[in-house]
Amino acid sequence: MRRPVVDQDQLADRERALSGLRRLEIELTQICNLQCDYCFVTRNLQQPTTRPMAEELLEAIAATVSTLSSPEGVEVVLTGGEPLSCWPSVVRAVEIFAGALGPRLVGASVLTNGTLLRPDRAAWLAENRVRVTVGLDGTQEVHDAHRRNSVGIGSWRRAFRGASSLVDEGIVPDVSMVVADGDCASLSQGIEWVCDALGPATLSVVPAAPPTLGGSVPRPGPEEWAELIVALHDRARTTGTRVAPVADVVDAMTDGVPMLHSDDGAWGGSMAVDVHGNAGPSLELLSAGVGAVALGSLDLASGPFQRWRDRSPARNAECRECSALGLCGNASMYASTAAGGSPAARDPWHCRMQRHLVNALEG
Ligand code: SF4
Repeated sequence: MRRPVVDQDQLADRERALSGLRRLEIELTQICNLQCDYCFVTRNLQQPTTRPMAEELLEAIAATVSTLSSPEGVEVVLTGGEPLSCWPSVVRAVEIFAGALGPRLVGASVLTNGTLLRPDRAAWLAENRVRVTVGLDGTQEVHDAHRRNSVGIGSWRRAFRGASSLVDEGIVPDVSMVVADGDCASLSQGIEWVCDALGPATLSVVPAAPPTLGGSVPRPGPEEWAELIVALHDRARTTGTRVAPVADVVDAMTDGVPMLHSDDGAWGGSMAVDVHGNAGPSLELLSAGVGAVALGSLDLASGPFQRWRDRSPARNAECRECSALGLCGNASMYASTAAGGSPAARDPWHCRMQRHLVNALEG
């Protein structure tokens, strides 16, 4: 497989051609029933706002978003904290956005730790075609070492039971798996188990990164990580599961279309709103207290949104000769604050990993 020849002008043209909001992330609550040791919303978990997002605020966001939507529509992602800790708000949010956006709501999804999923909730999610991403870190031993509640009890059993209730209702879940350095050796076993047990459509395999609640959870070396996930992608392909970070690069290489990072608003197509109604390019920035604007004075073409977009490899000289240009998704995983001292910094770990990944795929 060969990487597409991409230059910065092409990348900038593609960014310009994309207009409007495509992905909206809502921090429905800051309450979580777990205290995972690698969680990046540390500030919130230590001093959470106890009330979920107010219904009036959800309505105001939906009204604003209906004026900002891209012609192709918007995906709305409900997250937290643990969004299912305020289930009535999940139901209202889906109803409000469906009502305000109509056919421009291209999808609603929930990011959950799975422990509060029950058959009746799974049935409602299935009926309303809400996609669900469950955080499951593989085998019980690995998962329970990191994902525990406030008294130290592991959450694997409840999370697996919750994810299984989705499968019982005909929902093919996505799974998000966070991997610390010491867990790499057991990763393939964990992935095989998840694929067999749940048959996820997409498996996002994410290296753990500081800052963390209980100190630093080391992440694997970038080259080691790249080789590991390329091998896992090859194996998972036979079951029809996408290993997200690799499959995205493979698609971009196969199609010859440069990849832009929609998830963190790198080119302005994403927006996050926290429980207080502050808007910004990503929840990571908002939870770090950076880049917040009031909903009423929102302008996706200026302020923090423009500064965030300026990080693009299309605008940075150091990216000009990079072998991952157009394939890196902007080198901006959520460790940016820890790695670069600023949530707007580029994470050099990710740049090294991404170049190694592209070289490995190129053979
Ligand atoms: S991997 Fe890093 S250096 Fe390379 S294009 Fe992406 S952001 Fe630039």
